[in-house]
Amino acid sequence: VPRRVINFSPGPAKLPEKVLQQASKEMLNYDNTGLSVMEMSHRSAEFSKIMSTAEADLRDLLNIPDNYKVLFLQGGGSGQFAAIPLNLMNLKPARVADYKITGAWSSKAAKEAEKYGKVNLVLPETKKYTGIPCKSTWNFHPEASYVYYCDNETVHGVEYDHVPETNGVPLVCDMSSNFLSRPFDIKKYGVVIAGAQKNIGCAGVTVVIIREDLLGYTLPECPIIFDYKVQVGMNSLYNTPPTYSIYIMGLVLNWIKEEGGLEAMYERSLIKARAVYDLLDSSDGFYHCLVAPNARSRMNIPLRIGGPEGVPELEKKFIEETQKCGMISLKGHRSVGGIRISLYNAVTVEETLHLVEFMKEFMAVNR
Ligand code: PMP
Repeated sequence: VPRRVINFSPGPAKLPEKVLQQASKEMLNYDNTGLSVMEMSHRSAEFSKIMSTAEADLRDLLNIPDNYKVLFLQGGGSGQFAAIPLNLMNLKPARVADYKITGAWSSKAAKEAEKYGKVNLVLPETKKYTGIPCKSTWNFHPEASYVYYCDNETVHGVEYDHVPETNGVPLVCDMSSNFLSRPFDIKKYGVVIAGAQKNIGCAGVTVVIIREDLLGYTLPECPIIFDYKVQVGMNSLYNTPPTYSIYIMGLVLNWIKEEGGLEAMYERSLIKARAVYDLLDSSDGFYHCLVAPNARSRMNIPLRIGGPEGVPELEKKFIEETQKCGMISLKGHRSVGGIRISLYNAVTVEETLHLVEFMKEFMAVNR
């Protein structure tokens, strides 16, 4: 068996080994069908069971009530950046939506929404995303159809530590990069979307959870595969769903349950993130954290080495040496630079502590 590396990728990301082992065991012959899941009809009894079990496990993990519908769609988070305004812009006649922009991904979502209605920017505009601006600066539109935000900004490492209050306006959230890493109350939301390829599976499937009363406002120009009401009516089977990705997601959901559910994921994420942030904060500026303390992500930690702007030779050396030690995908996003450590559900505490130990030694040698 080839040795596995320690994968700190921002996504697609590490999967639990148990999941990969089970998938490999079932690759040629799933549950005595004589077929791989990849080769099955999406309307077969076997696949229907895979899909309904995945939905039941998700409902169980999040306590999703019956008036919320669950979809497994294609098109990724980016597809949903369009699907959200196409389905919800029309909730009110003014066709305007509130967007809270805290990083690259909410910014992209707002740009896409501008094609289908007016976008009101709730937060003051900035090029540097390092936190969540304080309440006194917020500017909500009185006629907004919905309020949109990104719970965890994967590129900038900005994560909400609270659910935004909207005074009854439907709240729409992109949880692509922290979905199922902590419990949350779905009843506070109108819509939650999440691509699978970070915390809950491989690329290809996007989870959409939507409150029933928000269905039926879809703009006529909405592609039918993105029409939430059509897809709810057909159990996500209007077209061929990403069958294998749904199967892998099902295995991960089962793994999360076996590991102790969302409370366990949350606790583990705090231990991992604290180990890294504590080192950054005690490094006397050798490691420079980019995000304000109350908005620091548990999932993605961008940092610079050698000072606030980073020292390129040191950061290059860091990447090279971590790679030699079997730790990969630590390079920061090209728009931010430096280093980014991603600590999704499948990354273990041991793996994280291994990196922290490396970082301590690197600091001792290079400061
Ligand atoms: N939202 C967030 C928070 C993301 O991190 C990403 C992907 N990195 C996306 C949306 C876009 O997802 P996709 O690539 O599946 O379109």
